[in-house]
Amino acid sequence: MTDYSHIGPNITKIRENLATAALAAGRDPADVRLIAVTKTYPAEAVAAAVAAGIKDVGENRVQEAVQKIAELRQLDGLAMPTWHLIGSLQSNKARIAVEHFDVIHSVDSVRLAKAINRHCASLNKLMEILIQVNISGEESKSGVAPEQLEKLLTETLEECPQLRIMGLMTIPPLDLPETARPVFKKLHQLMEDMKKKINHPRLIATELSMGMSGDFPVAIEEGSTMVRVGTAIFGART
Ligand SMILES: *Cc1c(COP(=O)(O)O)cnc(C)c1O
Repeated sequence: MTDYSHIGPNITKIRENLATAALAAGRDPADVRLIAVTKTYPAEAVAAAVAAGIKDVGENRVQEAVQKIAELRQLDGLAMPTWHLIGSLQSNKARIAVEHFDVIHSVDSVRLAKAINRHCASLNKLMEILIQVNISGEESKSGVAPEQLEKLLTETLEECPQLRIMGLMTIPPLDLPETARPVFKKLHQLMEDMKKKINHPRLIATELSMGMSGDFPVAIEEGSTMVRVGTAIFGART
């Protein structure tokens, strides 16, 4: 039997650090959602996190999440968390993603947005999405280039009536606090710019998904509303 007794205390500690960072920045800690990133960890670990008060869970891979969701459905009395897809999504998996996730953080092309929209329409579902932006311009990272963001937003709003664009997401090159800070600042600024340029009822633009185990306090100082924390809750991934 694997021991999951560290999960609750880790979550308590992260919530304290989250609150400290928010208060120091003059923000309400309740405005920052803690998303527990459960990739590579089994359904039992997710259940332990939910028992410790986690309401939002993030997964990278559609298939892995589908399996865990099925296992969690077998557990009596478990309040199903909100499922966030934070890893890159291929258009051919859009249907399964739409069926299982509540929020998709990794939309980075109109083609993908349209695929999600099409499946949402056939399932009569509205989906909350975020646009992933590649701030640092690293080749290896997914995400739309900042210069392409306005065009992507405009076309997505025009062509995808089932989608509500909640905000922006980014992954910095390294999750070291002080190298990540300028990346977070830039994402925040981009969202403010877009809000000024585009006025549309489906552009909600209140969420900034940024910050992981190594840098979430800095992300909160820079305006994050969704931190995605894995290792600091569950331990190192093997
Ligand atoms: C794995 C992952 C995280 C969590 O990273 P930790 O360093 O374990 O907290 C956050 N966001 C994304 C997109 C990830 O893939």
